[in-house]
Amino acid sequence: MIVGAIAAVVCGIATWTLLEYMIHRWMGHDRRFRRTPFGIEHIRHHAEGNYFAPTWKKLIIAAVVSVVASYPAIAIAGPTAGIAYVAGLICFYGVYEWLHRRDHTHPGRGLYGRWMRRHHFHHHFVDARSNHGVTTPLWDLVFGTYQTPTTIKVPPKLCMAWLLDPATGDVRAGHAATYQLGKQPR
Ligand SMILES: [Zn+2]
Ligand SMILES: [Zn+2]
Repeated sequence: MIVGAIAAVVCGIATWTLLEYMIHRWMGHDRRFRRTPFGIEHIRHHAEGNYFAPTWKKLIIAAVVSVVASYPAIAIAGPTAGIAYVAGLICFYGVYEWLHRRDHTHPGRGLYGRWMRRHHFHHHFVDARSNHGVTTPLWDLVFGTYQTPTTIKVPPKLCMAWLLDPATGDVRAGHAATYQLGKQPR
């Protein structure tokens, strides 16, 4: 029973990573969905650099999805595994939200933290058709949208505060090998 519940949590997490990719790629960047509430919020996130949709909107959507998804999950997998699956999905959605916000507000620590920022800011500033996953490159690799970041040129107006050295107004020395201020040639 405990093994089944753990497996269900892992499946819920995996499902979120796929949804993270699909929602971002299609709801966020496909022209057909630009006028949807998510599309509008996501265009603003790109245009303003460090703008995030209000947390209350995300909490309402997470609560509604939790309730609605529980019915089919319990019907298919039973109450324990069904609830564990939805809990894994929604909790990892929360982890994604936290990590994405940290990408914009704090420098990365460790291999994963630094990788995640380069992967995500390549999407923001180099090619918005690539690197839609935030927590994992898996679905970019599966769907052929993965690009390996090189030096990322960050427009000064959209630059993350953690990247800037206030003394020089330029990129902090520790990040100079991977980020530069400027506009990406198109
Ligand atoms: Zn972002
Ligand atoms: Zn995007």
